[in-house]
Amino acid sequence: MSFHAGGRYLVIGLGRTGLPTVDVLRSQGAQVVATDEKDPPTMRDVVSRVEAAGARFCDPAALMTVLPHIDTAVLSPGVPRSGALVRSILAAGIPIISEIEVAYQLCKAPIIAVTGTKGKSTVTALAAHLFAAAGKNVLAGGNIGNALIKEAVSASKDDWVIAEISSFQLESIRDFRPRISVLLNIAPDHLDRYDSMDEYAAAKYRIFENQDRSDIFIGNLEDPRILALYPERGTRRVRAQTLWFTAGGAHRELASLFAYDGTIWRAREPGGDAAQVMRCSDIPLPGTHNVENVLAALSIAFAAGCDPAGLGAAITRFRGMPHRLQTIAEIGGTRYVDDSKATNPAAVIAALHAFAGGLVLIAGGKSKRTDFRQMGQAISARAKSVVLFGEAADEIAASIAGPPIERASSMDDAVVRAARAAQAGDVVLLSPGCASFDMFDSAEHRGDVFAACVQALGAVARA
Ligand code: ADP
Repeated sequence: MSFHAGGRYLVIGLGRTGLPTVDVLRSQGAQVVATDEKDPPTMRDVVSRVEAAGARFCDPAALMTVLPHIDTAVLSPGVPRSGALVRSILAAGIPIISEIEVAYQLCKAPIIAVTGTKGKSTVTALAAHLFAAAGKNVLAGGNIGNALIKEAVSASKDDWVIAEISSFQLESIRDFRPRISVLLNIAPDHLDRYDSMDEYAAAKYRIFENQDRSDIFIGNLEDPRILALYPERGTRRVRAQTLWFTAGGAHRELASLFAYDGTIWRAREPGGDAAQVMRCSDIPLPGTHNVENVLAALSIAFAAGCDPAGLGAAITRFRGMPHRLQTIAEIGGTRYVDDSKATNPAAVIAALHAFAGGLVLIAGGKSKRTDFRQMGQAISARAKSVVLFGEAADEIAASIAGPPIERASSMDDAVVRAARAAQAGDVVLLSPGCASFDMFDSAEHRGDVFAACVQALGAVARA
């Protein structure tokens, strides 16, 4: 089933993805009903926007009367498939697809889809930066901030669309078939929405499900759940052509792009002669995880036929993204780093290894039912002091052995305590390892509050 202009669509969930979906579907001539389970008083502006787009808002309680007039439901990533609302729509026999499926159906340009537990935004932004440097027209969308459907509908056939894709979006695809798919890593996350790691990985694997030999799959050999996709190593078959990268020592002979001896190399054939692309020390982003991210972005650029000359130099001009190991200030010789987007343990572990010297860590927030043991070991080995807040504080504290732990009641309190524990030369690192919704609107909001508290501290220090 593909998009048809006279279709009758129900958009479920009216946030950052749902509202643009309503706009685009209407602009394409579809009839649109939209619904959302949020409290009615908070929905007034949203309902006005829906109506201004020529769509109709329907209260979830009244949905049953509308369903007979709907052909297809479009699900926003924030709405779980397991909820009562979705179950009732499925029970009525209405197919449910995700916004990226509609985006795919409307998109004239080839799509490059990037997924993984961590690094999606960085790789999407890096790849878009490389495409622009290589003179290609590129649009980036998806989780990175702007809904994919908006970019997809405005792209022409000579453009490229780079899409940051989450497992939630992949759960409800049907024909979604990227020209290039990228799987960065699969680490524990979202176990509040998946019953097991296998179930979570299965959602991620859907990124290459509809690809065939004329498409390309790019995988990170360092991750055992991705290495298992290598031909003859696992049971799951990737039908697309494959390109592999690795930042580690193992399996380098299988990779077409790899880091070795402080340098990124490109092999024309896996195991064949390799040409130097750039020095790892010239990557302007901290941490070995960012070497992996650069390898992924370069692999995408090579796969799309970008001119290799100049790609290494273009990487050195990339400025990084807010809330990902972003230095906010240096006060009294202590550096303050905002890594608020570290919303799972793997990102915290990566952050802890990205800095040499003394580290005071601020962590905590709303747990996603991930196991904190490995993160606790990394904290115990790397941090000289820890400040914890939020719902998961006790659970994280129980996984740490060694460094002193303080509890904070607010971000302000956390920053003041961390500053007291730090000395000149140290890094105060906000890398929470949890979702933000117990105390903040979003990870971005949490990072902004951290930055404001650090600025206030700086102002006091200067006074
Ligand atoms: P995503 O979009 O997948 O959430 P981002 O690029 O926004 O990933 O980065 C989010 C957080 O994850 C940041 O704290 C960043 O430092 C960390 N991170 C980025 N890339 C990786 C990686 N390859 N492995 C582990 N952590 C990473």
